[in-house]
Amino acid sequence: MLDNLNQLRDDALSALSPIWDEQQLEEWRIKYLGRKGALAAQMEQLGAIPKEQRAAAGKLANEVKNALETAYEAKVGAIKQRALSESLEAEPLDVTLPGRPVAHGRLHPVTTTMRELYRIWGDMGFQVFRTREIETDEMNFQLLNIPPFHPARDNWSTFYIADTEERVLLRTHTSPGQIRAMRAMHPNPIRVILPGMCYRYEQITARSEIQFPQIEGLAVGHNITFADLLGTMTEFARRMFGENAKVRFRADHFPFTEPSMELDVECFLCKGAGCGVCKYTGWLEILGSGMVHPDVLRNGGYDPAEWSGFAFGMGPQRIAMLKHDIKDIRYFWGNDLRFLEQF
Ligand SMILES: [Zn+2]
Repeated sequence: MLDNLNQLRDDALSALSPIWDEQQLEEWRIKYLGRKGALAAQMEQLGAIPKEQRAAAGKLANEVKNALETAYEAKVGAIKQRALSESLEAEPLDVTLPGRPVAHGRLHPVTTTMRELYRIWGDMGFQVFRTREIETDEMNFQLLNIPPFHPARDNWSTFYIADTEERVLLRTHTSPGQIRAMRAMHPNPIRVILPGMCYRYEQITARSEIQFPQIEGLAVGHNITFADLLGTMTEFARRMFGENAKVRFRADHFPFTEPSMELDVECFLCKGAGCGVCKYTGWLEILGSGMVHPDVLRNGGYDPAEWSGFAFGMGPQRIAMLKHDIKDIRYFWGNDLRFLEQF
């Protein structure tokens, strides 16, 4: 029995050494280590041999089993290693090949536009003042001259998120930031821009989204007049759209400014001749603005007998759409790389 086991080990190891093929290795494993293999057959006979020899035979059988398993594992590794070396030799590395291009991240077109706006307004002395996106009905509407049931509310379809007494909502515009800025900075003069996301409960179409960024601006001081508003808006348009940008003002209405106006800039795509983007008017609507309503000044803590100011609001997304001729507002939040990689 002991001789048989030693013989089995020697035969198995010498049969293993010339094998360099996975198929043959598997056949070897079945032949010697398999459930019906040579070693298993020897082990079955252990019960039949005399008791006094059984312990020594069992010990040797285990040693043979371990030796064969160890040799088998080593062979598996050796075959893999040899296959790798062969493939490296057969397919030499060409170290002169250019590397694969690395995909660079880029800034979102709205981010780029926002940063450009921050820079322009910063140069003109306006600091960024951030306020919350979750507001109360009072802040978002009432303190801005839009009481409950006022028809102007139809312009701001609203996401109410808690129907408590305060009526908590997602701000529909950055204008509540005017009240917050005034209350934070009273009794000092103010020159701030209020950037951030706004939300409206609307149908999503090519021209309207439920979420969009806005940049509001507010200046409050002594003796600020309508001429200051006109001059500041004209200067902004020149810095944003070029030294020779032509602007025009149209009367408009917002509940929180009086008087109110829209600023149009001459279409920078067709230079006023008329094109699809400006709907053949030659003009593009850029922002809304006006003199801060006395009630709003008062709600912010400023006495309208001593203080005056102007406010304006613009949509960076709309400006980006005009600049890059983007026809559908839904691209901005679509996360489509084919769109984003163009910027
Ligand atoms: Zn045009």
